[in-house]
Amino acid sequence: MYVNQNNNPKELLDSKNIDYRERGQELITHCIFNDCDADSRGNEAHLYINADTGQYICHKCGEKGGMKGLREILGISDKTTSPLVSNSATTTSKLATKYHKQLPLNIREWLKIIVSC
Ligand SMILES: [Zn+2]
Repeated sequence: MYVNQNNNPKELLDSKNIDYRERGQELITHCIFNDCDADSRGNEAHLYINADTGQYICHKCGEKGGMKGLREILGISDKTTSPLVSNSATTTSKLATKYHKQLPLNIREWLKIIVSC
């Protein structure tokens, strides 16, 4: 038995904070393709995902596929680093530069003194 993080349907759902129920080898969750479960009550859900293979089928809209499709709809690429994570890191460093430039001059001088000590 092998466990590959990117090939584990549970890990994919967990990483997107998608709630699901487990029934045997099946993960049952609200449809992530259409609004199939917009009017579902309680535990009702239409998307069934095989916990081992990632094969999924929605019993309402009929959407089906495998791990590849799951990763695509959830925005998870095959690469180890998610594009979402690297984007937010870039944004953060840009903001840091922006705020640094907005610092009053005297504080910047003071920071320079600290650094040079
Ligand atoms: Zn559906």
